[in-house]
Amino acid sequence: MQKYNLFHFFKLFPDELSCRRYLEQRLWPNGNPVCPHCGNTHKIYRYKNGKTFKCAACMRQFQVTTGTIYENSNLPLRTWFLTFYILSVSKKGISSIELSKTLGITQKSAWYLLHKIRYMLEHSDGRKPMTGIVEADETYIGGKKRGGKRGRGAENKVPVFGIVQRKNDIYIVPVKNARRKTLEPIIHERVRAGTHIMTDEWTAYRGLYKNYEHEVVNHGRREYVRGLVHTNSLEGAWSHLKRTLLGTYHRPSREHLSKYCAEFQFNYNTRKYLPERKFRKSISLTNSRITYKDIVPRV
Ligand SMILES: [Zn+2]
Repeated sequence: MQKYNLFHFFKLFPDELSCRRYLEQRLWPNGNPVCPHCGNTHKIYRYKNGKTFKCAACMRQFQVTTGTIYENSNLPLRTWFLTFYILSVSKKGISSIELSKTLGITQKSAWYLLHKIRYMLEHSDGRKPMTGIVEADETYIGGKKRGGKRGRGAENKVPVFGIVQRKNDIYIVPVKNARRKTLEPIIHERVRAGTHIMTDEWTAYRGLYKNYEHEVVNHGRREYVRGLVHTNSLEGAWSHLKRTLLGTYHRPSREHLSKYCAEFQFNYNTRKYLPERKFRKSISLTNSRITYKDIVPRV
């Protein structure tokens, strides 16, 4: 039987307090409180309620949730944890409709919950420079027209750019266009100079030879693989991304696409993790405050 199921979750987290204790262990080194107001770690007193602390240095009170994604949320910590658990077990992600039914909350609450998590993932990307063998490629998401030209002629679609270190991590991000001046700086930021980088013949990649061992596979001439030279890892990721966006999320809007890309990236980069490790990693990332304005940008 599958070990990771709701019984397992409720055994780990029978109540709010167990979630708090777990969070204290994850967000604070060795579980020792750190004052979020002044950074002090000494002489911190715990109140009898078990969740509030007072800092002797700045005399202010705090909880482990102060300054985190959970602050200003009306939902119990356990609802958040259960969401992270479900996301860690499922490979496909979950829609807000499905989540609202599972948790017994409104679809609106479920939508904000998922978007806060995606926003967190988008802003907690480690930016470790890629090495080894790297592939770079772009694709187009959305729009009604099928196929279409690359660059010009694809106006109704959003270009998404991706870089992957083979058998390792991926980085994907929506971009305003697929021109050289847009894509090249991203590659320079993300890929260590001198690395082997594989692309197709698109003009945006023509300057890469200056900083990288650049190899080109000529898709225009129906060449797809030449020994190690191909972009098949990214091609695979693109079709997976498109299936996920269509199947689970029913074509998310352009405005929120970067968050869905971040979620896809996180799932890809933790694909070899057991659910327990993925859950632990997710909880470790919750150490940042997210407000309504972050999720719904002002128009
Ligand atoms: Zn303090």
